[in-house]
Amino acid sequence: MNLDTTLNADLHCHSVVSDGTLTPEALAERAKAAGVELWSLTDHDEIGGQQRAIDAARALGLPYLTGTEISVTFAGRVVHIVGLGFDHTSVELAEGLRATRGGRGERAREMAASLAAVGIHGAFEGALKYVGNPELISRTHFARFLVDAGHCADVPEVFRRFLTEGKPGFVPHRWATLRDAVGWITRAGGIAVIAHPGRYDFTPTEEYALITEFIAHGGRGIEVVTGSHTVAEFQSYAETATEFGLLASRGSDFHCPEESRVDLGSLPPLAARLEPVWAALADRIH
Ligand code: AMP
Ligand code: MN
Ligand code: MN
Ligand code: MN
Repeated sequence: MNLDTTLNADLHCHSVVSDGTLTPEALAERAKAAGVELWSLTDHDEIGGQQRAIDAARALGLPYLTGTEISVTFAGRVVHIVGLGFDHTSVELAEGLRATRGGRGERAREMAASLAAVGIHGAFEGALKYVGNPELISRTHFARFLVDAGHCADVPEVFRRFLTEGKPGFVPHRWATLRDAVGWITRAGGIAVIAHPGRYDFTPTEEYALITEFIAHGGRGIEVVTGSHTVAEFQSYAETATEFGLLASRGSDFHCPEESRVDLGSLPPLAARLEPVWAALADRIH
């Protein structure tokens, strides 16, 4: 199998096991139909969909890497760490993710109370209707409720008016530590990757701290080409990857046909000078 930068790898997307709207099986079919050559399902804080994704990919002859996207609190902000190519039967990883998911139910009730204070009632029950996995109730499910109930025109408007710092429905939360998230992935035989670095409002100094601490904990990769980046960020994070000696990753972050700007397998390839994360995971491909 060719594992250079021209491979159409899509190593970031979400199913109903977290906040996507398609099943792992439907995503596998969509990836295959879109020409994806190496796929990973990276549900938030969950690996409950991994065996289904492995089986569905195998049935389609679609090479697959195990995946997850872990919510981390770093310097008081939320950072996402993608894990790729780990042993999905790792007990330490499963337990760590279970603990990370732990406070979501209570947080969701507090989010609903905060929305009720501005006159939006029934948000908890409303959001729950969109949830596939009750342990994974997320802001995305609240966003779908707010759109369908007519409070906002679309999901981006929700995140401009609600659910983010200083806005109704925002509830601060303590997620996993960077050290733990990178450690769980690495000790399960996988590679930890900083997800969509361009999405954090970090200063250059804060970004430097994130990357150097991530590497100190054993992190090895960074997303360069992602649905969350602009074309300019494809360039600037390619430089970051080179500068820090990080493996480069590529993924759409696809959640939903109606909501996602970028479909599976549709982004440009990684720059040829980069070292793709999948070349380092050749022996982990299902
Ligand atoms: P949570 O893990 O519950 O805090 O929810 C985070 C999820 O909300 C992310 O994984 C995205 O799917 C979604 N999200 C966050 N910010 C935005 C945004 N500005 N536009 C659309 N979706 C967003
Ligand atoms: Mn999401
Ligand atoms: Mn993310
Ligand atoms: Mn994601």
